[in-house]
Amino acid sequence: MSRVLVLNAKALLGTWPLGTTRVNGARMPQLPQLENAWLFAENGRITAIGQHATEAPPEPTPETRIVHAEGRFVLPGFCDSHTHTVFAATREGEWEDRLRGLTYQQIAARGGGIMSSAHALRAASEEDLFQQALTRIQELMRMGTVALEIKTGYGLNTEAELKMLRVIHRLRRTLPLEIKATLLAAHAVPTEYKEDRAAYMRMILHELLPRAVEEGLADFLDVFCETGYFTVKDMEDLLSAAARYGLKGKVHVNQFTSLGGVASAVRHHALSVDHLEIMTEQDLRALRGTDTIPTLLPGCSFFLGIPYAPARRLLEADHAVALASDFNPGSAPSGNMVHTMALACTQMKMLPTEALTAATQNGAAAMDLGKQLGSLTVGKHASFIITRPLPSPAAIPYFFGSDVIDTVFIHGDIVRSGSAIA
Ligand SMILES: [Zn+2]
Repeated sequence: MSRVLVLNAKALLGTWPLGTTRVNGARMPQLPQLENAWLFAENGRITAIGQHATEAPPEPTPETRIVHAEGRFVLPGFCDSHTHTVFAATREGEWEDRLRGLTYQQIAARGGGIMSSAHALRAASEEDLFQQALTRIQELMRMGTVALEIKTGYGLNTEAELKMLRVIHRLRRTLPLEIKATLLAAHAVPTEYKEDRAAYMRMILHELLPRAVEEGLADFLDVFCETGYFTVKDMEDLLSAAARYGLKGKVHVNQFTSLGGVASAVRHHALSVDHLEIMTEQDLRALRGTDTIPTLLPGCSFFLGIPYAPARRLLEADHAVALASDFNPGSAPSGNMVHTMALACTQMKMLPTEALTAATQNGAAAMDLGKQLGSLTVGKHASFIITRPLPSPAAIPYFFGSDVIDTVFIHGDIVRSGSAIA
């Protein structure tokens, strides 16, 4: 039986009460914490937490792993609910073209962008894709990510999309972190269907989606609802079809333009609406009072130089805002969630406490993992981060660019060992 006992933590952060699966905007600034505290985990689950002043921790047995957390914070591991971590090639060349003045849309029109990723991915073997993604995710785990959603969308034909899903499943079987797979065949219209988007839609609806479901490979369905990509009607058709197979939607909407996709996604009970850089009053109204999680991706705004999503408006409307990295080779080549939090604070005026909950509990909720992950709560997975000694929780995003993480546990096992491990 594996046992972990964390002693003398400066504080446990995110000790949300039993039964918490998401945290709404109004409660997000009040991050619950337990000062001068201990945490005990058995068999991959948190079994007890307490404060040294009021309650002694359990007696360690010889096999209990002791962690000395003096001066350090313990926080739930990051739950990154929107990534494109499986890809065949990086795109620095396009990035340099953008630095020289071309826009993301101009690059896409020249056959770059998502289509260039698709050409590389179709040519890559399943083994090569797996090995590349494995290396990337091992780095993400060291940066504190304990749950990860990964999308397809660089295959753009049945065989290559299924190949991506199989790679995601092999990653799930191989790695200790939680992985969710999202079918994003409607990421771009591939060149061979350029003149006939409807035929590509039929292929997804009648061939790819049924096969992905039949083989048990997809957890969610996604669509890039955007000018020049897929229409609101396309998204509705895809979300309706997915619902018939029991798959929830997590959609890319309002990144460059507002087409009414938010209202439509909400009507189709999407689990999350992601991006939201361009939000009209109508879009904000459509979201109000719904359970759909607005997922913000400030790393993408940073890297593309596009506007940031209106985080304050969403928080003030009491939404359970989530933060994700959008890790992908074109618009956000980083899965660093501490950096994502720093951008959320500096660029979107989220408070450090709000950013922390958005990157943990609400990210978990945006993957339907809110019951298992996202807080330091008895019964949840022992998937947590121990920081290096820090003056306050706000210092986590404050020291942007610094490596504030010391040790990472997933399911009670060490995936990164720092100086807190004696
Ligand atoms: Zn994305």
